[in-house]
Parts: sequence; C-alpha cells; structure tokens
Amino acid sequence: MPSLRRKLTESKLVVASHNEGKVKEIKALMSPFGIETVSARELLLPEPEETGNTFIANAELKALAAARAANLPALSDDSGLCVDALDGAPGIYSARWAGPDKDFALAMEKVQKGLEEAQAQDPDVGHGAHFTCALTLAWPDGHAESFEGRVHGALVWPPRGEKGFGYDPVFKADGEKLTFGEMAPDKKHAMSHRADAFRQLIAACLN
Ligand code: IMP
Repeated sequence: MPSLRRKLTESKLVVASHNEGKVKEIKALMSPFGIETVSARELLLPEPEETGNTFIANAELKALAAARAANLPALSDDSGLCVDALDGAPGIYSARWAGPDKDFALAMEKVQKGLEEAQAQDPDVGHGAHFTCALTLAWPDGHAESFEGRVHGALVWPPRGEKGFGYDPVFKADGEKLTFGEMAPDKKHAMSHRADAFRQLIAACLN
C-alpha cells in the first residue's frame, strides 16, 4: 500500500531548535539526503512556549511555528526521560526539572529521590525507564508529520560517565552494561530514542 505520508521534496529545512547539540545532530542526519539545514537561531526565530501535554504536541507546535515564520519546511525534536515508577515523570518536563541553571545533577537527584520514595511505599517497584523522542516535520501550509521513538532501559545510581548530556549518566539501555554517559557517542546515537524516531521519519518522508 502506498504511504499516505507527505514526502519532503524541498532541499532546505529549518531545524526548529535552539539547542546546538540537536541542531548539529539533525544537520548530520539530513546531509546524506542532500538536504541543507538552517537553525531557528540563525534565522532569529522566537522560541515558542512548550504548552503541549505530550511530546508530539510540543514537537508539532515548535515545527509549525518555525515553518510558518521561515516559510520553509521545519523539523523539531521534543524528548525526555520517562520513569515507570514515577508514572512517566519527568517526561515532557525533563528539561524543566533541571531548573533555570540547567543543573542535571539536581534533576537526576530528584529522579532518584522520587524512585526511593516509591520504593519505600512498595518494595516491588522496579528501576524501569525509557527515553522518548518525538520528531515533527512541518510545512508552512500547516501540514505536519510526526514520529515517536523510544529506547527502554533502567535507572542506575550513582550517575556514571561524562560523555553524554542530560540524564545520560543514570540511564542504562536494556542489554547494555554501560550507561549512556559512559558509552561511545556513536554507539549511543545508533540505539537511541532519536535514532528510532529518525529511522521512521526517513522511511516515511525521505525515501
Ligand atoms: P526538550 O529540549 O524540551 O526536548 O528537552 C529535552 C530534555 O530531555 C533534555 O534537556 C534532556 O534533559 C532530556 N533528554 C532528551 N534526550 C536525552 C538524551 O538522549 N540523553 C539524556 N537526556 C535527554
């Protein structure tokens, strides 16, 4: 059956993010397809408030705002850590748990405290968690295609490794011995929630 997804036929897109790490990763992922990228920051686009209740809702509002403002297709990423014992928190609030100073040592401590409290109530509570990444490709006419990727694993304490960012030092993917903070970046990027979402986007909209 032919895909009903809209294909990206344009050769230039806006990366709807002010996070330099994400912009670099998306640029590298798009260049093999002959797609030039320009960031929202380079175009001086305002950063919209993330008012959605889901990763996809937030990814959509960021991509649509950038696509309309730049009159180009736009690609956004909204991601976070979801802890089973905390009913999916910090989830869409993952960045906000680190506070205005982006203190992820503090955010990881909050996660660990929450887990300890849940385990004090119910000793059977496990350490299960996953990272989620929502990607949205949006066009200036308001059309949007969204994809959600995940990587499942467990939380470890204390944090280990300096290679990643955010919550990487406390996350160990299923079947791995090293945390994302200890793992070589190429290995993490091949198995991550972002890689999963990108594989779906490429299969649906770029091939
Ligand atoms: P966003 O910029 O609103 O999508 O916030 C995403 C937040 O989720 C980041 O600030 C990180 O705290 C967390 N996060 C997302 N992806 C990862 C990852 O691959 N490793 C570690 N933390 C991540």
